[in-house]
Amino acid sequence: MEIKAAQDLRDHLRRIDGKGYKAYKGLQGAYLFPSWSLFIDHVQGDPFAAPSRIRVRVDRERSGLLPDTSTRKIRTIATCDFLTREFFRNCRKYAKGNRGTGKSGVIVNDTPVQQILEKSAMVLNDDWVEVRFFMGLPGHGRGISGKDAIAMFFEELPRIVEASLFMKRLPTAALYQHIETAEDADHLRGLLPALHLIGFVGDGALLPRASGIDPRPLASKLAIRFKTPERYRVSVALPNRGPVTGMGIPEGVTLIVGGGYHGKSTLLNALEMGIYNHIPNDGRELVVTLPQTVKVRAADSRNIEKTDISPFINNLPYQKDTRSFSTKNASGSTSQAANIVEAIEVGANVLLLDEDTSATNFMIRDLRMQQLVAKSQEPITPFIDKVAQLYRDKQVSTVLVMGGSGDYFEVADHVIQMADYQPRDVTEKARQIAAAGKERRREEGGDHFGDTASRSPVAGSFNPYRGPRRLKISAGRRREILFGSTVVDMWDVEQIVDISQTRAIGYAIHYATRYMDGQRSLRELLHLVATDLSEKGLDILPPYVTGDLAAFRTIELAAAINRMRTLRVNQI
Ligand code: ADP
Ligand code: MG
Repeated sequence: MEIKAAQDLRDHLRRIDGKGYKAYKGLQGAYLFPSWSLFIDHVQGDPFAAPSRIRVRVDRERSGLLPDTSTRKIRTIATCDFLTREFFRNCRKYAKGNRGTGKSGVIVNDTPVQQILEKSAMVLNDDWVEVRFFMGLPGHGRGISGKDAIAMFFEELPRIVEASLFMKRLPTAALYQHIETAEDADHLRGLLPALHLIGFVGDGALLPRASGIDPRPLASKLAIRFKTPERYRVSVALPNRGPVTGMGIPEGVTLIVGGGYHGKSTLLNALEMGIYNHIPNDGRELVVTLPQTVKVRAADSRNIEKTDISPFINNLPYQKDTRSFSTKNASGSTSQAANIVEAIEVGANVLLLDEDTSATNFMIRDLRMQQLVAKSQEPITPFIDKVAQLYRDKQVSTVLVMGGSGDYFEVADHVIQMADYQPRDVTEKARQIAAAGKERRREEGGDHFGDTASRSPVAGSFNPYRGPRRLKISAGRRREILFGSTVVDMWDVEQIVDISQTRAIGYAIHYATRYMDGQRSLRELLHLVATDLSEKGLDILPPYVTGDLAAFRTIELAAAINRMRTLRVNQI
């Protein structure tokens, strides 16, 4: 690609000042600034359209980023995440913002979240560091504001870039804290299998969040820090922080009990997020779970396509087949059954369930109900009769929040009580209570969890085009994908934390269709997509380079595919 002088850009902007907005299109190309290169990849069509896609690339050596910021993949991810945040902060600081109609004057990049994620917003390799961002090229009505554009490219942008991508201006201690925090969490997660743990909560962790819509830590003197009960105390050594202690959650079935409002769900929510590494001072830096941990909940009204829910549901009215169950409007129990089977289908090995978001009849069926309603009249085999089999037959562990039914004492390997936001071990007491009961509920789960049929998605059921060949994939909200003319509603998929993940998942659905041949299982084809992503990065997903994608798990990609109302599959 030909690279022009920065002066050419300035001259060009002077020339098109006052002209029709479309004249901005001519800017597309590369420009050499004194300390970096600027790439104008795509120019918006009008001031109201999505802002223009821009990149800035700095020579690695000139940036001053030392080799130890990228010696391992996790360090590179953390460095990029940190630089993305700095760029975001400096956009707010140095970009004036409003410079005319619509999005005129905007300079933005990917919005940071509490997690340290691999993102397309920043790329760091041996040769350069590159930030991808968006600029609302300024206009008044239909006319170009050349002077404003010159101010944006030649005053604001240099300030933002100089402050965000050059080591001499960056807060060094904070950068390394960011890197080391991510590296420690990653290491900790890697230790779990050898310790036969599925999760770890560090002593001193701060689990509650600022509010139901604000994922930052609860900043209050009343916030109580986590303290490990003796029985679950585990000590480990981390590469940067050194020795730490915390609660190891063993493999198997773990029950979290306790009175209402005593912090049960807060603990479970923290475990849900344990698949991610958190930023320093989040409070959950030392809360980790196995990477294939899945929160499952009821999601009534969701679409289900040929999922084998027979381990949980049988003999539905009208002989509806539950080995290949389809519905456009699932009930609470059938949706929760499908969510579990589909999670296991794509490799989940830890399930997290909360009574708050579960279907009651899916979770329990007590002695009295067994006496009143015969098993032959009840299609549901409740989770309580399957949870131990899940571990024994499939090595899938469960952590379950259950304050409302002691029947689970019989099937739990460990019982932890939350009392005044502190955990304590009540396993023995729960066992004694279970053993003392005279009349027990009957087990209704059979001998085995049972095998479920695999499914192979049909490529033709995914149409990402709106109108003739106009690729239309975007994220409506954090848990909503717009895919062609289809809306994929993922409101119940709680482990998506960033709208940039949602967008990437949208593109990944389209990408995955290349591997769909009607034979290959969903699990296999997701594995192929994951391999491509780990070898080549997020840029392979969309047809152009864009800085608003974030890494996601194939588990969430599967969840999106499974929720598509156009989905067709072959059972294999
Ligand atoms: P439960 O599921 O047991 O009913 P929650 O986990 O929903 O309880 O917690 C109830 C409330 O207490 C929430 O507002 C939560 O933010 C707050 N909370 C949870 N843990 C703590 C803690 N360690 N310190 C202070 N407040 C907490
Ligand atoms: Mg709760």
